[in-house]
Amino acid sequence: MVLQKIFTDIGRVIRESRALVVTAGAGMGVDSGLPDFRGDKGFWNAYPMYERLGINFIEAANPIHFAMDPAFGWGFYGHRANLYRDASPHAGFQIILDWTRRYNLDYFVATSNVDGHFQRAGFAEDRVYEVHGSILYMQCLTPCSDEIWESDEIVPVDLNTMRAQHIPQCPRCAAVARPNILMFGDFSWISERSDQQSYRFNHFLYEHRHENLVVVEIGAGTGVPTIRRMSEHLGARRNTTVVRVNLREPQIQFPHISVPCGGLKALRGIDETLGG
Ligand SMILES: [Zn+2]
Repeated sequence: MVLQKIFTDIGRVIRESRALVVTAGAGMGVDSGLPDFRGDKGFWNAYPMYERLGINFIEAANPIHFAMDPAFGWGFYGHRANLYRDASPHAGFQIILDWTRRYNLDYFVATSNVDGHFQRAGFAEDRVYEVHGSILYMQCLTPCSDEIWESDEIVPVDLNTMRAQHIPQCPRCAAVARPNILMFGDFSWISERSDQQSYRFNHFLYEHRHENLVVVEIGAGTGVPTIRRMSEHLGARRNTTVVRVNLREPQIQFPHISVPCGGLKALRGIDETLGG
């Protein structure tokens, strides 16, 4: 089907909705110039040093490095933090915010992205559920307490070795601090911040249980399917339409809407049909 027709249909769904949920995966960041780590190749394109070391994404994103070799553990996360800080959220974030104002849509964002870009783009802090945590927050590696703190500590990384030149510390016990992000094989992630966001999200869904809800899913792949499953789960509610925007894996069951293109292109296309 022609994209134009799909965009027009989605525009109608948005106008007829009372609430909007954005579910976003790594593909949302691609138009901001961020890597989506798709497969080993995608990861190694972004991080050639790890290809030389024979380490894939799942192995790099493992909390064991922080304990065994903190400079190596922080090499990956320090570099990502710098990457996310230097990138700016693309125009699609503003387009979504415009819709919420223009159509008086109550909204919530649920994302597996840890870059904090929704808040930076102007989405309200209490309207974002960061399923896997945020790179802008830290916790103790041990952990000596349940404390999660916001941190703008910059961790410079030697790109030849991917080793951090500075290791953040826990202010309480001086042990190594780590990002408050859920990693692979992670048993010490403190989920409290994410749990509170989840609680607010469920409350939002309950408040809008009798109203038309549109779910716009952007760039959520099948590799780590958390976000896709969440969208599908929401799609099983009454009066709910899921719009799945995905360049490579757009499939979703009717009456939900599949949009086979990138995030920014889709958001612009839909916005044009809305006269934006
Ligand atoms: Zn500590």
